[in-house]
Amino acid sequence: MATEKARQGGGDGGAGRWPGRRAVLVGGAAAAAGGAVLWRGELSRLWWRLPGDQRPRVAGAVDFAGARWVAASSANYRRADRPDDYAVDRVVVHVTQGSYTSAVKAFEDPGHQAAAHYIVRADGRVTQMIRELDVAFHAGNREYNERSVGIEHEGFVEKAASFTDAMYAASARLTARICARYAIPVDRAHIIGHVEVPGTDHTDPGPHWDWDRYLRLVLRERTART
Ligand SMILES: [Zn+2]
Repeated sequence: MATEKARQGGGDGGAGRWPGRRAVLVGGAAAAAGGAVLWRGELSRLWWRLPGDQRPRVAGAVDFAGARWVAASSANYRRADRPDDYAVDRVVVHVTQGSYTSAVKAFEDPGHQAAAHYIVRADGRVTQMIRELDVAFHAGNREYNERSVGIEHEGFVEKAASFTDAMYAASARLTARICARYAIPVDRAHIIGHVEVPGTDHTDPGPHWDWDRYLRLVLRERTART
C-alpha cells in the first residue's frame, strides 16, 4: 500500500500533457453552445467525442472477468484514458499488510489517498476497485502510477502463509490478462514488486513472495489463452 498524495501524482491530472486535445474539446463545446441547436439524439451521443477520462464509466463494469466490483474513493485515483494517454507497461505487486476488509475500507476512504486497481484474496477471489484506464495511486511514484496496474494481495509480507496456492493462481491469471491486453512482456523487468519502484520506502511483497513460481504461472496462463 502507499501514502502521500503529492508523490502519488494527485492534483492537476497531467492536463498539461495534452494541451492540443483539450483545446480542441473546449473549442468544440463553445461552438456547439454558441451556435446550432442540437437534436436530443445528437446531445446524448456527444460524450463519444470526449476524451476517455471524461466519459461516463459503466457502473459495476470490470476489466477482469469474474472480478467483483467495489468502487474506490475518487480521491484515491485519477481519471485517465489509458492506454491512449499513458502507455501501460508494468504490473506492480503489493501486499495489503492487513485483511481484505481493511484494504477495501482504506481504498474507499478519501483520506487514505492511495488505492490499487485490484485486491486478490487468500481464497483467490478478485475484487476490482479502480478501472485500468484510470491512474490508481498505488506505487508512490507518479510516473509508475501512470504506467502500471497495481494488484494488492491480502496478507502480510512477514507471513509466508499469507501467500496461498489459490492466491498465486488467481493473481497469475489476472496478471496474464493484463500483460495480454497491453502487450507487456512476462518478465521481472515488467512485473515488479512495490519494493522495486524507484524512490519507494515500501518492502512489499517481501521475501516470502515466490517470484519464480509467480512468473512461471503467469507465463503458463499467458501462453495457454492467447
Ligand atoms: Zn505496496
